Amino acid sequence: MKKYDERNTLFSRIELKKGSKEYKDYYKKNPESRKQDDELRNRPFRENLRKNDEYKKRFFPLIKNNKKLIKAQHDLTVNHPVSKTRIDIEDSFRENIKEITKYFGASSVGIAKLTDYSYYSHLGGLAKHVDLDTYNEPVKPHYKTAIVFTVEMNKEMMNRAPMYEELLATENAYVKVAEIGTKLSMYLKDLGYKSMMNNSEYYLAPMVPLAYDAGLGEIGMCNHLVTKEYGNRVRLGAVFTTLELSEDTPVDFGLQKFCKKCALCLLNCPSRAITHKPREVNGRQFYKFHDTRCHEMWIKSGTDCGTCISACPLSQGINMEKFNQIKEKPELIEEIMNEYLDKNGRRVFIKKDLPIVKLGDK
Ligand code: SF4
Ligand code: SF4
Repeated sequence: MKKYDERNTLFSRIELKKGSKEYKDYYKKNPESRKQDDELRNRPFRENLRKNDEYKKRFFPLIKNNKKLIKAQHDLTVNHPVSKTRIDIEDSFRENIKEITKYFGASSVGIAKLTDYSYYSHLGGLAKHVDLDTYNEPVKPHYKTAIVFTVEMNKEMMNRAPMYEELLATENAYVKVAEIGTKLSMYLKDLGYKSMMNNSEYYLAPMVPLAYDAGLGEIGMCNHLVTKEYGNRVRLGAVFTTLELSEDTPVDFGLQKFCKKCALCLLNCPSRAITHKPREVNGRQFYKFHDTRCHEMWIKSGTDCGTCISACPLSQGINMEKFNQIKEKPELIEEIMNEYLDKNGRRVFIKKDLPIVKLGDK
């Protein structure tokens, strides 16, 4: 087992200022990634969206304040006091906690036990927008339990990936994740338990392994969590708490075999970032992935791309009656895929602008 280190994530690496002490320290230890990272450092990003100035002026402000909103929620969570009167909670209340998280807006919820290996060893300095300088900060494993949840992203928007609507869907889901996390953390604090939410600006741990442990889905070839209900068309959130609850167990609905026959995320990825080569990380099967190639596409498109999300048959909906039998009858996978391809082709992509960003004639 090896601890995750947020400083190794691409987002943390490319934030390092060339020539700074942190930059020198990092690439002294990791010289192999310096050249590729340097090519991505300080590159213009959102402005590369292939739309005219009028479009950008009207629709960029739609998401401009999201980080401020998330910061406000982050601060509310941190500053909310833990009640001095602790309510004794029995384990059966775990089902209520799940329903409460759904009531706050989650699409699905599971519970995972936190171990020292769940947490990042160190933070990667990505919390600038919540006014925290976290680079190199060791993470102390204060909490016992993670209440992990998904937020479904809008299908109509994701089916326009990598166009601007894709970004609107992911951004909206990040705000929703923070809102649910805030409400749940404050609720748990009111019951007398220390709690902290993870949000897109402040993660104490990587979310995919936790969501897998919490039984919310399996890890697909795209390296995302793939749920039965929404495929990988979800964003993940988690609230960490000192309230101890029994954990859920990982699920196995046969995704590994399904991915082998499908590979649509790999085939549709415009930057060849996805591979079919398994990669084991702390006992969970992921796949080798070229993070710099993926980010290159983000820079080109000016969005988060998201093509591997719209390409996943489980994100679109497949014959579930058959899918539920694939473990016993793997021959059904081919049938499911053929039905899916006949209906949708290799990838669902809708070019027409959604009304929210459609500009009429002047
Ligand atoms: S986001 Fe786009 S570039 Fe990145 S892995 Fe997915 S399909 Fe490939
Ligand atoms: S697109 Fe296919 S191969 Fe990729 S994660 Fe989804 S099911 Fe697996």
